[in-house]
Amino acid sequence: MLLVTLVISLQSSLGFSPSISTLFESEEGELIQSDLDFLSTLTEVKEADPEFQLIFEFQEMTAQNLKSWLRKRVSYLIPKDREGHVSILKVSRDVDILYPDPNISPIPTDSLYTLMDQFQTVQMENLGAGIYLHGKRKRRLIKVDLSHHFPDRKLEDLKILSPRVGLIEINQDILYREVSKEKVLDPYPASRVIRLSNLFHEGRHSDGHGDSLGFFHSVCPNDSDYAGLEACDQFNNGAYSIGALFLKAAHKACVSCSEGDKELLKLIYLDSRSRISNRESLSSQSIEEINNLTNQLNLTYQEFYSDFSGSSDEKLNSLQVKIEKLNKKINLLKNPAAKPITYGNTEPEFLMLR
Ligand SMILES: [Zn+2]
Repeated sequence: MLLVTLVISLQSSLGFSPSISTLFESEEGELIQSDLDFLSTLTEVKEADPEFQLIFEFQEMTAQNLKSWLRKRVSYLIPKDREGHVSILKVSRDVDILYPDPNISPIPTDSLYTLMDQFQTVQMENLGAGIYLHGKRKRRLIKVDLSHHFPDRKLEDLKILSPRVGLIEINQDILYREVSKEKVLDPYPASRVIRLSNLFHEGRHSDGHGDSLGFFHSVCPNDSDYAGLEACDQFNNGAYSIGALFLKAAHKACVSCSEGDKELLKLIYLDSRSRISNRESLSSQSIEEINNLTNQLNLTYQEFYSDFSGSSDEKLNSLQVKIEKLNKKINLLKNPAAKPITYGNTEPEFLMLR
């Protein structure tokens, strides 16, 4: 049993293959998978810049780290449902459940449709996060029937227990480009980088807790190009930051991108950056300190989980205390007491079934 677990975890640490709906045309599905494989070509930049480390919470920008970041947040990719989303939702009425922080919500609206519209990224939508928030508001467990997307797999209804469920909808239009008035699949490197950056953006919507749940977008301030639209981020570590930092790194690392491609990536990067309303940069000294502490935190987590079965309670308790202390220090450095919170809590919520 242990060996099986080891083999599975080894395999999953190497590749990243989310479930891709069979409702995509087969060549569309192949393009999506080859986009993900393209990540392995973006490993030229070994040293991530400090801000990248701060927001992604890992030290080196290797393909493996990028894939494992996505693997935690992106599990099912389905094509855009032009009929509307509600046909796949099932509300469970007879299950005893407890949502964490039940009265804390990131945005005040109450309709599922408005909720879905919060995502201004029309290329992709993180349905899992939106449905989780809808369930939280209704105090119900919501399940999603994905059987028509994966007819061979006898899937049970997917319980939306966390924004981490990783259910992402992709608008197929972004897989194509127009060549002499004909739509053809688009495997150009820059297009792959842009789609990947959208996927990282959506990945961030799988995170968050309480007021940062889902890292939903907020209304842009008056001086923004998007004034009045819900197309900005109040947190410095939100979806637009994740997408922008990925673009910045990929801009350096994409050896197959032309100069023109790189200009385009830069423009999209600048656009994403401009959507972070509350941008207040930390000093490079605090960023360095946070990155060091995050590194220590990751190592302590590793020690905690590797010792989980063999260690004394005493040892585990002391590791847990260390983890708490490090977390507190990091949060304080990111969000000094006198200032408004600019870095949202990235720990995902989980719904308890009782
Ligand atoms: Zn978004």
